[in-house]
Amino acid sequence: MKLDAKVYIVGAGPGDPELITVKGMRILQGADVVIYTDSLVRAELIDYCGPTTQVYKSAGMALEEIVHLMVSHVREGRSVARVHTGDPAVFGAILEQIGLLRRAEVPYEVVPGVSSVFAAAAALGAELTVPELTQTVILTRVGGRTPMPEGEQLRDLAKHHTTLALFLSATLAKKAVDDLLAAGWSPDTPVAVVQKATWPDQLVIRSTLSGLVRAMGDAHVSSHAMILAGWALDPNLALADGHRSKLYDKTFTHRYRKGVVEG
Ligand code: SAH
Repeated sequence: MKLDAKVYIVGAGPGDPELITVKGMRILQGADVVIYTDSLVRAELIDYCGPTTQVYKSAGMALEEIVHLMVSHVREGRSVARVHTGDPAVFGAILEQIGLLRRAEVPYEVVPGVSSVFAAAAALGAELTVPELTQTVILTRVGGRTPMPEGEQLRDLAKHHTTLALFLSATLAKKAVDDLLAAGWSPDTPVAVVQKATWPDQLVIRSTLSGLVRAMGDAHVSSHAMILAGWALDPNLALADGHRSKLYDKTFTHRYRKGVVEG
């Protein structure tokens, strides 16, 4: 793939090197320069790079250093791939990089990726939006060192009783549980945790709100984990009646099929 002299902000997906997009892989193959966070992005993905690609690990670098690297390479006519885990738009901290790139008048393009929220749902075999149960997923985090904006405290969001996906919250499970209980969630609400989704050492925990902290402690999960909570995570839901989507309901007419009236 012929690349331009610009910064490609590429979503690498959750880990499995096969879960980067075809476009993302082609950018890695063709880029002159690749910058990735070695603590989060699987090294196998970097194997896609060509033999002459200059590869930089960014884990020890400050934002300004990373941007300086990108800007100087692009100004010398090189294509730069900046690799982010999952999808760059969710907790990817790309805005600050984009701000500095725009100030430097360096062009950039964002290439989406499979977010860990969807890799975790896939590992669980779960649908996060279940008809007549919840049609909403809230992607958020538990406020810790990064405070939550007004009105976005977990206990406020939880009052909607949607499916919740908690990023960056593995060490804050106790606070999450307290907030959800305070919002009126029942202690037996299903909760699942997927650590290192799609990595060879992926770990799946299924628990309930009341059992979560203990289950995570027993499994020593304190980082790199997605917490999914809500009744959509009930492992028995697929066998329960009453949650059929209208799309496949034979009495429901839609654009591609005429419904039949049941007698
Ligand atoms: N942009 C990323 C999220 C980056 S923030 C995405 O779309 O997935 C980092 C947080 O994402 C981690 O604390 C964890 O909650 C989650 N995460 C990233 N990769 C993960 C994986 N493979 N398995 C489980 N959670 C993951």
